[in-house]
Amino acid sequence: MRLANLAGRASIIVDGGGKESRAIDVHRSSDSVFGPSMREIYDDWSAFREWAISTDLAALDCTPFDDADLGAPVPEPRQVFGVGLNYLEHAAESGMGLPDFPLTFTKFPSCIVGPDARVSLPSASVDWEAELVVVIGVRAHRVVAADAWAHVAGLTVGQDLSERVVQKRPPSAQFSLGKSFPGFGPTGPWITTPDELDDRDDLAIDCTLNGDTMQASRTGDLIFPVPQLIESLSSIVPLGPGDLIFTGTPSGVGMARDPQHFLTPGDVVVTTIEGLGSITTTMTD
Ligand code: ZN
Repeated sequence: MRLANLAGRASIIVDGGGKESRAIDVHRSSDSVFGPSMREIYDDWSAFREWAISTDLAALDCTPFDDADLGAPVPEPRQVFGVGLNYLEHAAESGMGLPDFPLTFTKFPSCIVGPDARVSLPSASVDWEAELVVVIGVRAHRVVAADAWAHVAGLTVGQDLSERVVQKRPPSAQFSLGKSFPGFGPTGPWITTPDELDDRDDLAIDCTLNGDTMQASRTGDLIFPVPQLIESLSSIVPLGPGDLIFTGTPSGVGMARDPQHFLTPGDVVVTTIEGLGSITTTMTD
């Protein structure tokens, strides 16, 4: 199932079969039991999932929608985790050693935006980071990796936009602030439940800048894969419905290039993950 935020209403995307995109409004189709907001869906995830599985979705009313109505699949997450140095080649290009425990920071929730965001650049030191983003569906506290996928509502595409000067500000670093300017958390275009994917643990991920490929990797290369991240994070912090985990970026960021390359107004960043879709982020003054 692909679940989208269409103008603030939870909607199930129906396969177009080459035709225009169509969606089922969850609130109307469930006789007002679920939704209408995404928050209400995540807070009742198990019951919603049960309803969606046991319902003949093809028999429900669906209507065409405009891509411009797609919002962030979790517009107001309570917690947003970011993970650094989670791909071998990116850890190497960053000149940092490999962590024993996921290097964790937060992206403050006010930075979260949707799949077609325009982001005002606060400086000339903003970098791209294509990332797989996990959306929690069922509360997870002290969950072991083997049970972790059962706590995931779905996966989505994200950009962990990063202002490198603030991020590295002495005396140590300010990861959370450097990655939380307004618009620095583009996500979307919807969440895809893991059962839709041939291999939820190994998806192609790439990022283009003005059409040129900057990053291309596979989530199978994650040092701490999704189940391990959930085990590690939930060993300390309870994860709740709608919480997001930005799982880390592959190599190819602008900071590590020679010469370094950062985003400028007018740049268009497209981030794509196999089976999950694409998001387009446009940089402005
Ligand atoms: Zn990142």
